[in-house]
Parts: sequence; C-alpha cells; structure tokens
Amino acid sequence: GFCMDKGNSTIESRLSANGKTLLEKRYLLRDAEGKVAEEPGELFARVAKTIARVDSRYGYDVEKTEDDFYQVMADLEFLPNSPTLMNAGTELGQLSACFVLPVEDSLKSIFKSLQDMSLIHQSGGGTGFSFSNLRPKGDIVGSTNGVASGPLSFMTIFDKATDVIKQGGRRRGANMGVLRVDHPDIIEFIRAKEDEELLRNFNLSVGVTDEFMEAVSQDRDYALINPRTGKIEKRLKAKDVFDRIVTCACRTGDPGLLFLDEINRRHPLSTIGTIESTNPCGEVPLLPYESCNLGSINLAQMVKEGAIDWEKLKQTVHTGVHFLDNVIDANKYPLPQIGQRTKQNRKIGLGVMGFAAMLARLGIPYDCREGIATAEKVMKFTQDESVQKSVELGEQRGSFPNFHRSALARDYPAMRNATVNTVAPTGSLSIIANTTSGIEPMFALTYRRNVMGTRLTEIDPVFEEIARKHGFYSSQLMEEIAGTGSLQTSPNIPEQTRRIFATALEIQPRWHVRMQAAFQKHVDNAVAKTVNLPHEATVEDFREVYMLAYRLKCKGIAAYRYGSKAEQVLEIGNAG
Ligand code: UDP
Repeated sequence: GFCMDKGNSTIESRLSANGKTLLEKRYLLRDAEGKVAEEPGELFARVAKTIARVDSRYGYDVEKTEDDFYQVMADLEFLPNSPTLMNAGTELGQLSACFVLPVEDSLKSIFKSLQDMSLIHQSGGGTGFSFSNLRPKGDIVGSTNGVASGPLSFMTIFDKATDVIKQGGRRRGANMGVLRVDHPDIIEFIRAKEDEELLRNFNLSVGVTDEFMEAVSQDRDYALINPRTGKIEKRLKAKDVFDRIVTCACRTGDPGLLFLDEINRRHPLSTIGTIESTNPCGEVPLLPYESCNLGSINLAQMVKEGAIDWEKLKQTVHTGVHFLDNVIDANKYPLPQIGQRTKQNRKIGLGVMGFAAMLARLGIPYDCREGIATAEKVMKFTQDESVQKSVELGEQRGSFPNFHRSALARDYPAMRNATVNTVAPTGSLSIIANTTSGIEPMFALTYRRNVMGTRLTEIDPVFEEIARKHGFYSSQLMEEIAGTGSLQTSPNIPEQTRRIFATALEIQPRWHVRMQAAFQKHVDNAVAKTVNLPHEATVEDFREVYMLAYRLKCKGIAAYRYGSKAEQVLEIGNAG
C-alpha cells in the first residue's frame, strides 16, 4: 500500500491554487453540515480504491492496481472524467460523463427521455439527443386530430428541465441537440440560437450527410422528408441551407455540424445500430442508451529533457485503459437499460490533455507541419497502445459481448472495448492538472476564467515556466501582456518563442481544423475541439472552416467567434 501522509503533502505541493479551489468547491466530499471532509490525496485514494476493487473479480493483484491508479492521479498524469472523481465510492456512484438517449415520435418516448435526462444530469452526466425522428411542426396528430408542435418546441422543455435540475450545483447540465439536415423543421433549428434566451443548455448540431455536402458543392437542391410518413415535403437549395448554417454559426456559435456518414462508416458496431447523436461536446458518438466514461492523459507530464518519454506514455496508456475498463464494472448506472447497453459494448474514451503545453516544452509551434506531425505521432502511439491493452484485457477477462458482431472481430483475436479513444474538452480536468485543455492551443498567456460564478485569474503555467527557464520572465513583462494575453507585440522576444506562444485567436482557423483532423485520424470515437475565431471573423471564415472539416474527414465541427455570446467561459485580460 501507499503512505497516505507522504502522498498528501506531495499532492498539496503539486496542485495549483486554482486547482485546489476547484477541488474544494466541487469535488471533495462534504459531511452532513456541508463542510469539506476530505483532502485531495484522500480523494485520489477513494477513487483508486473503488475502481481497483473490480480487479478482485478477475483474480488480479488488487493492491498493486490500487497503487498504480493512485499514483497516476496523484502525479496528475492521468485523470478520469469529473463524475468519477466526484462520485466513486459514494452512495450515488455514477461515474460517466457521456450519454445518448433516444427520442421517438410519441409523447410517451419524449417524456420518458425527459425523465431519464433529469436523472443523468442529477448524477453529473451530460446527454445527447437526436430529435430527427419527431414529426415536423404542423403535422397531423392522429389520436387527437390535433397539430404537432415539432422538435423545437419539445427541445425547449428539455432545456427548461435542465435549468431546474442544475445538477445539485456541482455541474451544469449540458446537452447536445441534433437535427438531420433533411428534417422539414431544419431552418427553424438552424436559427434557434438567434434568440439568446433560447436553448441555453444545448449545443446544436446539424446532422449532415455526404449527399448533402455534395449537393452544397455542386449547387443542387435536396429533399426534406417527413420522418413519420417518409414522404418528401419540399426541396431546398443545399447551398442556401449551408449559408444559413454558417451565418448563424458566425453570429451565435451555433449550430455546428455532425458528419453522420463519416461517424457511421467508422463505427465498429454498424450491424447493431446507426448513430444519430453524440454527447454534449461532440467527442463521443453513441447509440441510444449507451454511456461512455472518459479519462485523459496529461501530455505535458510525458516530456523528459526536451523529448517525449515514450515508455512513460505507454505505461500511462496501459494504466488508463485498465482504469476506464474497471469503471464500467464499478459504475452505478442511472437506468437499467443504460447499464445493459453500456456493458454490451464497453466503450471507453482514453484521451489527452496538455497537448499545447507539451508542444511548448518540446519547443514546437502548434500551427505548423511539425506541430501536426507531432500530434499524429503521439495519438497513433496512444491508439496502438490502447488497442493492445484492450486486446490483452479481452484475452484475460473476455471480449465485450457484441465483439463477434463488430467489425473489430476481423482484425483482433479479442477486444475488451468497442472503442478505446476520445479527445475530451477537459474543461475542469485541465484546471486540476494545471495544464492546457485537451488539444487546444493556449487560449491566452494570461486570462480570467469563469467557473460556476467564480472568476479566476491565471498566468499560463507553462508560459511562466518556459519564460523563467529562458530568462525572459519579468513582472514588467507580465504586466505588459496582462491586458492582451499575447506576446505578439512584445519587443525583445525571439521570433521562435513568439511562435511557440501563439494563442488560440492568433492561430489561423485552418490550423485549428488541421489539428483536429490529425487527432481524429487516430481516434475511434471523436475529438472535442473548438475552432476559436477572433471577433472580426466573417461568415466566409466559418464556411471555410466547416468545409475543410468535412474534407479532412472530421466527425463534426464547432467554431466560436470571440465575444459572440454575452457570457463566455474564457475571457482575455486581467481581472482588474
Ligand atoms: N459535461 C457535462 N457538464 C459540464 C461539463 C461536461 O455534462 O458542465 C459532460 C459532457 O458530456 C462533456 C463531457 O462531460 O462532453 C466531458 O467534458 P469535459 O472533458 O470538459 O469534463 P471534465 O471531466 O473536465 O469535467
């Protein structure tokens, strides 16, 4: 076993002030009076113990597993998604971040999913829905001779319910709403966020097909189909619809796109069902009632003496896959159906965070060939090792029950998990691990962050570290860049250093998309990425970004123009 006292003091020294604040506010267990009742080290010990215990079923050395799990978390090298940190070893015990629920064309189905959503949000998970099967607004309701109110009206109920639940104050309810581009209500869906008050708890994605994207390129029209009757309602020019999409996205940040054909082509379980939606941030395409638990490796910690430490990365990947597979068994599912479906396919999503921080430590800019090549190399290695570990677990513990119905059975002797990799946004995890989020470039070298109503000011830790190491750190320089968060106008800074610290809004949009595509090549689930554009960005920029994402075989795309929402998560500048 490990020595808890020693563990605790080293953990305390490793955590940043922001990381500690966040853990105290939302993660550490509390007693009946609401007082914090655990230390960060105890949190990691609680999680390690709960997740490692599963190994006793398979005859492994539980204590060794527990030590390994504890160590990777305490060293901030790997963290499981927030619900696992919050709920492992508690009465609630719900450990997954991502769910997709079905919405069929009946009041019974709609309100069942609404209820299921409420239970998932309460337990800290996020939900995705396709509303494509609902009959359009104005259509016939046979049982009452009435008129259907359409997908948008039902979505507002899901949105309102999300507001009311607020996830016990620890986690905001998040939803993905998808509508196929050939649904008769698609224009209303595309424009929904023009009203800032509407659907605030939803990310919206238009589900597009190859056929639609080709119709855009060739300036053809396409059919809108009533899902209830299968009949064509009318035809629209694909280009006009695409124009609306990019215009609204430029104005409001929504909708994004989901490339449904690419998602389903690459889904190993195509014989079992068709994917229509992802979780809220887009990184996990799921069948209805599936859930997925995620975990992220901190790449910034995988650098030794200016080079990638491949052996350490390999060990961390193996531990991460083992950990996430155990989570499936340790989990207390919010619904029996979700437990069943999840255990049939045993999807997990091991990904990375701190990619930009890793590049900075390696001295490689993000927006160049070498940056992209590094991404591909790191993710390919991560994927190969993840698959290898899942094969090993499959041989020892049995493959996932649907293995022989999956495309994976052609290539592998056994496999424990239908999917192994995902790149999550790591919005909270990256604060705890004190590194850059997911695969995003640094947002700013100094910034303020809104976390559940608390405003935190930060100097990017990797920037500070490298500035000190290379001798250009000074409080005067930090003052100077506090307002803009950028090094680009500072004299006396070498050109290469300036390139390495180019921030999200200074990086050309197409490099954002290329980076997303580079990771997607070696990820079997999907990649969460926001293409951050400056305030001055135009509709044409959005068009280019969305088209390029399709050409480069991304599974989806989301872009955000700085300042296009009144309230945003990241802001540039000092707290003042
Ligand atoms: N999520 C959620 N509410 C939130 C943040 C996240 O439901 O406030 C879910 C959602 O499914 C999202 C996933 O968690 O896609 C992963 O998000 P992220 O990596 O930012 O979560 P973290 O583990 O860092 O808290």
